[in-house]
Parts: sequence; structure tokens; C-alpha cells
Amino acid sequence: MDAIHDIFVIGGGINGCGIARDAVGRGFSVFLAEMNDLASGTSSGSTKLIHGGLRYLEFYEFRLVREALMEREVLWKNAPHIIWPMRFVLPYAKGLRPAWLIRLGLFLYDHIGGRKLLPATRTLDMSKDPAGKPLKPLFHKAFEYSDGWVNDARLVALNARDAADRGATIRTRTKVVAARREGDIWAIRLEDLASGKAEEVKARLLVNAAGPWVDHVLSATVGQNDVHNVRLVQGSHIVIKKKFDDPRAYFFQNKDGRIIFAIPYEEEFTLIGTTDRDYPGDPHDVKISDTEIDYLCAAASEYFAQPVTRPDIVWTYSAVRPLYDDGASKAQEATRDYVLKADGGEGKAPIVNAFGGKITTYRRLSESMLEKIEGFLGKRGKPWTANASLPGGDFPAAGFDAQVAKLKSAYPFLDQRLARRLTRLYGTRAQLLLGLAKSNADLGRNFGADLYEAEVRYLAENEWALTAEDVLWRRTKRGLHLSREQVSALDEFMRGISQRHVVAAE
Ligand SMILES: Cc1cc2nc3c(=O)[nH]c(=O)nc-3n(C[C@H](O)[C@H](O)[C@H](O)COP(=O)(O)OP(=O)(O)OC[C@H]3O[C@@H](n4cnc5c(N)ncnc54)[C@H](O)[C@@H]3O)c2cc1C
Repeated sequence: MDAIHDIFVIGGGINGCGIARDAVGRGFSVFLAEMNDLASGTSSGSTKLIHGGLRYLEFYEFRLVREALMEREVLWKNAPHIIWPMRFVLPYAKGLRPAWLIRLGLFLYDHIGGRKLLPATRTLDMSKDPAGKPLKPLFHKAFEYSDGWVNDARLVALNARDAADRGATIRTRTKVVAARREGDIWAIRLEDLASGKAEEVKARLLVNAAGPWVDHVLSATVGQNDVHNVRLVQGSHIVIKKKFDDPRAYFFQNKDGRIIFAIPYEEEFTLIGTTDRDYPGDPHDVKISDTEIDYLCAAASEYFAQPVTRPDIVWTYSAVRPLYDDGASKAQEATRDYVLKADGGEGKAPIVNAFGGKITTYRRLSESMLEKIEGFLGKRGKPWTANASLPGGDFPAAGFDAQVAKLKSAYPFLDQRLARRLTRLYGTRAQLLLGLAKSNADLGRNFGADLYEAEVRYLAENEWALTAEDVLWRRTKRGLHLSREQVSALDEFMRGISQRHVVAAE
């Protein structure tokens, strides 16, 4: 096909998918290529917080914190299935940050970010509050404040789904291997990593949203010299069998001045992270180190009455932050804000690169990107994503339990746990997945832990899931529950499905 697209987006992480969705919704024609699975880079390896970033106040990042705080309620409203409010308990400990400083930070947190629905900060007496129970008795006082939780990988898939529903072309397992200017047009060479087929696509503007690969794309794919815009910083997490029943998360200060979170995770687990260390390798190969495991276990054990040890760990994951290199001396001090840089125009095909950013600010980054794009291609439509639900998110922000009840009344055979899980992942679209089913048997094969064929097929047909890993670790977290044999069985099933997709596409 010779059509020239308005915009070609490199990268199917949160930023690429958010930009594609915003752009297509304004009337641009959009093509997005992701070399692996959606969210297979940094966007599935975050701490999964929709947060202002209390810690960034110490580095005077007021612009970023204010924008991020304001996004909390906007994103919750638009995706209440995968985003929800969470309260954080910050135990006060002598010898660390003084209470007045924490109070000042939390005062700013409560007041600079347009908080309307989220409850304000309060002080806890840890000898009486249940939050004190799993901790060592030396913590007498704590502060409790609001932020949000997000299913990061699903946020990416839903942005891609919505972009495709509005007309964008989304290609996964498709690598951009070269991009060259032909006057004011880009000729972009793609390689389908599954079939090896090559293809060329043309576009008026190139968006480089390749996350940790953003500099690599500029040097290896676009052919620029002397590229150094991002600092790659590894962050790792451990997941353990749950240490506490309380729905609140903990914010622990460490002796080295860093902080870690301990967060209720997937009903039965606690998520602990993260770390910060400069990363020299290929972002694909990132893996937790022994030092990081020891660090996270030791830091959490300073607070929990029952120490966290290696045998408690059921899963770990690591990712690389593509931080804009502002020359900070320590990895933890490098800015978390985003920077967009454009090149081209006036006869030279334009490129806009996205450096840095947070999951929390992806929608605002996308709006800023659209301002740059419209500077080159002309205005098409107004900003629109602040008031538009993501797929499945078209129910009231505080209406999650009512939505579960609705699903149960339409499908009385679902047990409460499955109804909750499906509503958490798919919101109102759970009904599309369940179709005309009248019993569990109608959902097809059970691959384990209530992962039925109907769900797997829905993910393959609607959310670009191609492998067992896509299903088990990104579209869902059923990987935490399946045995090795069950994973192999799903793998085989997925190979059968993707084989059929290849045949259908030929
Ligand atoms: C440990 C850790 C914790 C974090 N915690 C939080 C948090 O709690 N809250 C928060 O808001 N943010 C958090 N972040 C930050 C957030 O995760 C990132 O800013 C965000 O995910 C970056 O998204 P991205 O789209 O820029 O990059 P990515 O998600 O990495 O996407 C880039 C994509 O580009 C693709 N790509 C690269 N080259 C090519 C090519 N040539 N052709 C085709 N595709 C290509 C890659 O495969 C990749 O999927 C955290 C980050 C880390 C590492």
C-alpha cells in the first residue's frame, strides 16, 4: 500500500500508545510499530503507581509533581477498572527525615494538585491503627496519604486498543530497522520479526517513543551521530507471599536516603521495590541482581516484624528507566520529568523524540507531543483525552463493586473471585469476553487458576496477545498461579492460534 500516513510512531510502550491514541482521535492517520509485545519494555516493569511522587519534591520538581498529582483523578475517572486510589502509610522513624519536613511535603501534596475525590493526609497512632500490626513496635507514628494504583501493562494495551478502534494501525513484533528522509517524507523500513518479511511504510512525521532504546533508534535507525539524551537506570522489584492483609501500601524510608514501597499485590502477594542503579547493557537483558535482592530484603526487614528473606520471593521483575540525562550525579536524583525534542520542518521530514517521563504523566506527554506535531502538520482537533474513557472504563470512578455485581447478575454462574478479576482487567468489556456463556463449561478449556479459553481468545483477537508470556505476564498476571506444565500447555495453544493468524494474514 502506497498511502502516506501522517504520523509513524516507533514503540508500543505507554508513551507510544498514548500518543497514537491522542493523534488518531484528532483525525491524523497513524501507524505504530512495536518490535516485541505491547508493554514489553519499561511499561510493564514499573512500581505501578499513579502518583505525584512525594520524593521528587526534595529535588524541587514542582512542575512534574503538580502535573502528576492532577493526573491521578483524571486517569482514575477514565479507567476505573485498572486504576484505583490507594492509601499509603509512611512510618515516622527517628534519625531519618524530620516529621516537620514530611508534614510540609504532604501539605504541598494535598494542596497543589487539584485533589477533589481523594482523601487528605492524616496522622496515625501506630499502637492503635491496624497498619502498625505487621511492623516492628518501634514505629509509634505514621502519616497516611493518597495516591493511585495502575495495572501498567493493561494501560498500554487499552490505549492501543482504543487507538485501533479509532482507525490507527498497530503492528506488534514489527521492528523499525531503518528510517530515511526523502525530502519532506519519511521512508520507514519494517521487519516482521515472526515471519522475517520486510516492508516499507511512508509517513509525514516520525515519533520516536522507543523508551530505553530512544537513543539507539536515533543512532542506528535514523543514522544520527553523537547521540546521548537518556540515562538508563535499572529498577527491580520482588514479589512475596503477602506480609499483611491491610489494603493500604507502605512507604518506607531507607538509611541511604532512598525509599521503597511495599504494596498489596494481586490479592495474595506483596510487591516490594524499587532500586536505582545505572544500567550499561541492552535493556532487553535486564535482570535483578543478587545485590538488589539483598538490598530490598534488608530494607523491608527494617520495618516488618517478620523479616523478608530470599525463600519468601515468588517472582521478581526488572526494567530500565529511560531518564532524560540532566547530568545529576546519582541515578536516584536524575529528573523524572519528560523532554520532547524535534528536528526537521521546512522541507525536511520532521521527527519528534520523547525522552523520560512517567506512566502517570503519559497522557500529558501525549498532549505536549501533539502540540509539537501540530506545529509541523497543522491543527486537526482539540485535546480530548481528559474526558474519554479507555476501553471497558465506561462506568463511574467509585462504581467498581456495582460493576462486579452487574456482571454477576448477567452471568450468575461466575464465582465472586472470577467476576472481580474479570471486572478489574476488562471492566465493561468483560461481557464481550463472556458472550453468550451460561456456565463455566461454555468458557472452554481452563488453563489453570480460572484462566479460560474464552479469555485467552479474547486477548489474542482484541489485544495482540501472541504467546503464553503475553497472556500470563502482561495482559494478566495469571503467571503467578500457573505451574510449569500449565504454562507449556498454554504455550502450545497460543502457537496454534498464532499459526492461524499468520495463515489468515497471508
Ligand atoms: C523500576 C521502575 C519503576 C517505575 N515506577 C513508576 C511508577 O510507579 N509510576 C510511574 O508513573 N512511572 C513509573 N516508572 C516510569 C515508567 O515506567 C516509564 O516512564 C514508562 O513506562 C516509559 O514508557 P515508554 O513508552 O517511554 O517506554 P517503553 O515502555 O520501554 O516502550 C518503548 C517501546 O519501544 C519499543 N522499541 C524500541 N525500539 C524499537 C524499534 N526499533 N522498532 C519497534 N519498536 C521499538 C520497545 O520494544 C518498547 O516496547 C517506573 C520505571 C521503572 C523502570
